[in-house]
Amino acid sequence: MEKRGIALVTGASKGIGAAVASALAKDGYDIWLNYRNDHQSAEKVCKDVESFGGKCLPVSFDVSDSDAVSDTLEPLLKENTPYILVNNAGFAKDTLMALMGDQEWSSVLSVTLDGFFHVTKMVLSGMMRKRKGRIVNIASTSGQSGMPGQVNYSAAKAGLIGATKALALEVAKRNVLVNAVAPGFIETEMTKDLPTEQFMSMIPFGRFGTTREVAGAVRFLCSDRASYITGQIIAVNGGTYM
Ligand code: NAP
Repeated sequence: MEKRGIALVTGASKGIGAAVASALAKDGYDIWLNYRNDHQSAEKVCKDVESFGGKCLPVSFDVSDSDAVSDTLEPLLKENTPYILVNNAGFAKDTLMALMGDQEWSSVLSVTLDGFFHVTKMVLSGMMRKRKGRIVNIASTSGQSGMPGQVNYSAAKAGLIGATKALALEVAKRNVLVNAVAPGFIETEMTKDLPTEQFMSMIPFGRFGTTREVAGAVRFLCSDRASYITGQIIAVNGGTYM
């Protein structure tokens, strides 16, 4: 397998991030695998990545903590610039707006938007200097259509979509391509406690998507075949929102 450079994937100890890390490793990328605190799961994903012949460097930090991000990434970025950044770390804290506390609001916005800001800012200058790079932000159908019980999460993901388009315009001339993937209902830990049957009527395909199906879209956006695509939001949602 031809060596292609480094891909930094945030929130990659499980779920969509783990599938993205493995898919990019298959394409020949070494992985900087970020996660928050689940070391055991991160180790397992790293083993999977290495089975495709790539290197895997686990980097644990909270993407919403600007000091933690820079303390970890600064020394690494002195030596190398990732070609790919996938901003995937995120979580939901669902409740109705009338019942939502400050913490439920701010923590969900912070991991998505501050996380995007801190990590992207660190990596972007190297990409611009080298005049090449791919950034893929993992948004959500909730950020496109809105979802009751998810005012915080919908706001965060809609914000991320806005940031994707604005940044795409800023860095297009530097050959840094910025896109988003917006998954619908995907089988992961985040959705395992949802009353599945209740949501099925919203999904034309009649099933949840897999992490592999989301990773396929990310893989495409990071490939040579996507060299004229920027500022786009690719929905991977089984027809849930068009
Ligand atoms: P998941 O299985 O719960 O995995 C979340 C990952 O994010 C874990 O690796 C976790 O690390 C990491 N993480 C969480 N907070 C973090 C932080 N502050 N700093 C660094 N890492 C952090 O989630 P998922 O379902 O794969 O979701 C991944 C992304 O897809 C999220 O942005 C989510 O909003 C989006 N998404 C998911 C769905 C869905 O249906 N599943 C749909 C649309 C969009 P630890 O394991 O160490 O905690």
